[in-house]
Amino acid sequence: MNNTGMHEECGIFGIISPENGRKLGNLTYFGLYALQHRGQESAGIAVKNGSKILCHKNVGLVSEVFNDEILQKLDGETSIGHVRYSTSGGSSGINAQPIVSNLKFGNIALSHNGNITNSEKLKFELEKRGAIFQTDADSEILLHLIAQSDTDDFYTALNESLKKLEGAFCFLIIYDDKLIAVKDRNSTRPLCVGKLKDKTVISSESCALEMIDAEFIREIEPAEVLVVDKSGNMKTSKFTPETDKKFCIFEYIYFARPDSVFWGVDVHSARKIMGEKLAEKFKFNADIVIPVPDSGISAALGFSAKSKIPYEKGIIRNHYIGRTFINPTQELRNMKVKMKLNPVKSIIKGKKVVLVDDSIVRGTTSRKLVRLVKEAGAVEVHVAISSPPVISPCFLGMDTPTCDELIANSMSINEIAEHIGADSLVYLSVEELVESIKEVKGFCTKCFCNE
Ligand code: AMP
Repeated sequence: MNNTGMHEECGIFGIISPENGRKLGNLTYFGLYALQHRGQESAGIAVKNGSKILCHKNVGLVSEVFNDEILQKLDGETSIGHVRYSTSGGSSGINAQPIVSNLKFGNIALSHNGNITNSEKLKFELEKRGAIFQTDADSEILLHLIAQSDTDDFYTALNESLKKLEGAFCFLIIYDDKLIAVKDRNSTRPLCVGKLKDKTVISSESCALEMIDAEFIREIEPAEVLVVDKSGNMKTSKFTPETDKKFCIFEYIYFARPDSVFWGVDVHSARKIMGEKLAEKFKFNADIVIPVPDSGISAALGFSAKSKIPYEKGIIRNHYIGRTFINPTQELRNMKVKMKLNPVKSIIKGKKVVLVDDSIVRGTTSRKLVRLVKEAGAVEVHVAISSPPVISPCFLGMDTPTCDELIANSMSINEIAEHIGADSLVYLSVEELVESIKEVKGFCTKCFCNE
């Protein structure tokens, strides 16, 4: 959870088709399924059919929120979907998206991914002028800005409103008979366009395009407003000429799926290179490299390939735990960790182990895992982390805690190693991280810097 109010790290997906009857609800469902890692709190789909916008959304996973009967009803020419991350907003359904509204311009549906950093100020001004917010989410602010605009032209209202937003945002909007995609001026979060025959598809990550056999076309550019009509014609413009690409590097480290590609570089390969670079810095002898599944797998493969230390699946992740409602005593707390990640004794016993994960935030995961791996009989446990120490909270949507809770803020690397019980601890530097993804230029690395 971050400390700027409503945190909105999410996944968004949209399709526009020349005519209805093309099962857009089903396609959007599959797209959201592939983006489920971006948010498990709630899911929703809105579909425009003629002049009506139909919407179904609720708390829960995509597979829990929709069934065949609901999806059959969600048909139309344009659809957008949303999956929302679990955060401070609690598990109330009111923050589920898409948000559907009836404005003076007509019906509109909107899905948002990101974090608007001047939301409190904007909300205060909008409420003073009579806006009544229905949700806690920043996402609604854009709708109110558009609604209170003096102009009669929707696109002028949209552009003027976007200029007032600060921070990170990707929006998908259904308006009129168009699908509109928008990105902030820094391109903080991912959003790309694809084609599925005569349909145009827009998605947070390319893995969802592949899910429905759509072909990747390109990324949405910083400050771009892309308007797609039913024939697939695309009209692009920028809501401001002042752009400065600063893509969130944590998408490459942790958040995105390994089979997604941003600006031509696939996430898995980037993570493998991060692992290779870690191996170059590793100064000890070890018998096996074990990833923390799933977040450490790609980097561990790179580490193993470079160091020639064998890769072993020494920790097994249970994928079926969902949410756990056990309120743990100390005894049960150990079981709770093992419910998710269980070390394999036969692999680990008597071995010097390198444990590879993508990041240390509070230090909780590594501390527990080092202990479990030692209890499973490891003689040494070295920890290798494929990112630099996280020292600043993220104000742009990544789910990191406050300064005080970030372990690297109050401890040196040696102290962290001691705290988590590791025999050694190695991180990547910011330079080594950026070098691992050198084909892509323009990153936000603020969480690793004391700015
Ligand atoms: P911690 O236990 O607080 O040190 O968190 C580190 C673990 O959380 C690592 O295993 C990461 O894979 C994972 N992680 C890193 N960033 C995030 C994030 N934004 N949301 C959820 N988990 C994360």
